[in-house]
Amino acid sequence: MAEHVEPGDAREIAAALAARLDEPVGVFAAPGRVNLIGEHTDYNAGLCLPIALPHATYAAVRRRDDGVLSVASAQQDDRFEGLLAEVTPGSVEGWASYVAGVAWALREAGHVLPGMDLVVDGRVPLGSGLSSSAALICSSALAMCAAGGIDPDRPSLVAATMRAESEVAGAPTGGLDQTAALLGEAGHALLIDFRDHTTRTVPWQPDDAGLALLVVDTRASHSHADGGYGSRREECEAAARELGVPSLREATASDLDRLDERLRRRARHVVTEVQRVADTVAALGAGDWTRVGELFTASHASMRDDFEISCSELDLVVDTALAHGALGARMTGGGFGGSAIALVRMERADEVADRVAAAFAAHGWGAPGVLPAPASAGARQVR
Ligand code: ADP
Ligand code: MG
Repeated sequence: MAEHVEPGDAREIAAALAARLDEPVGVFAAPGRVNLIGEHTDYNAGLCLPIALPHATYAAVRRRDDGVLSVASAQQDDRFEGLLAEVTPGSVEGWASYVAGVAWALREAGHVLPGMDLVVDGRVPLGSGLSSSAALICSSALAMCAAGGIDPDRPSLVAATMRAESEVAGAPTGGLDQTAALLGEAGHALLIDFRDHTTRTVPWQPDDAGLALLVVDTRASHSHADGGYGSRREECEAAARELGVPSLREATASDLDRLDERLRRRARHVVTEVQRVADTVAALGAGDWTRVGELFTASHASMRDDFEISCSELDLVVDTALAHGALGARMTGGGFGGSAIALVRMERADEVADRVAAAFAAHGWGAPGVLPAPASAGARQVR
């Protein structure tokens, strides 16, 4: 049987966190996200289409007057304590670098912050391609802003949280995760255009059409995940250089013949994936869910064959879901493990999840997690 991963009750989680601090300023939540389509397009100035999950990370904060930043998480044994003024890239290791990185980036942006105690508790599975890292960073950012009495606009917060992850935590992500966590809206997907960082909400209510989005966490994580992300990014940059364009967003299908075999496949993924995002938005506007499903499945094939970022576990989720009636399915997130999504008829969702779990068991793999995924609210104060 598949294991269901529930988001928990926001009010209860927030109350429990607040009780761990005297006089907390507040409790802030930021969601994980699932990218519907548009993978590895953010750093290519392309398009992507994430939704915010109901699963979030919660951060409670109180001020302290000694300039110290203290950070603890219900998901980690170790805590971090250090002078806020001494946090710089490279000075904090491990999970706390995501949180300390936010303080550094806000100060770099010119904001004055007090010392703080921060406690966090997350419901986004860690390392599953659902962006627990951005949920941690963005909930911490809202908490720190409240403690400092500052209220930057959301685009500035996106910029600061991106710097936190890339420059202090050392994960050079492209901005999809933070944008989704900070700007996601319930009942909507977020169309992000990374050419100019503009966003537009797109209604996403599969349940109105009798459909459900199944998110399956394979719980697999392959060791080349970090290196693989970086090398794909470098290959995309190399392809753009060879074509003489600032980014692969400016490349066209007919340009691709000028590249050698490997770079051609990498670039073909990006060029066709950007088009699939646009086509998905058009299909959603037309209520054509069959087409949305086809685009999901085509996206998976592109990531499996051209971009080569899938793995056996992700392929098994996709193949099993399609064999049992899914309209479409694809891996989501950076790849080499993590999660896959399937668009299924609501009444068959449990059956598809059980079939996937049975297929995992038949391979001798551990049970996958299944997450409910109605498009949910972006980062916000919850208490
Ligand atoms: P993903 O963002 O897909 O979940 P990442 O590798 O980018 O995967 O981020 C996972 C890392 O983020 C964890 O290894 C941990 O360092 C940190 N993290 C995420 N959520 C929490 C949390 N609730 N408490 C502490 N650290 C967390
Ligand atoms: Mg992450």
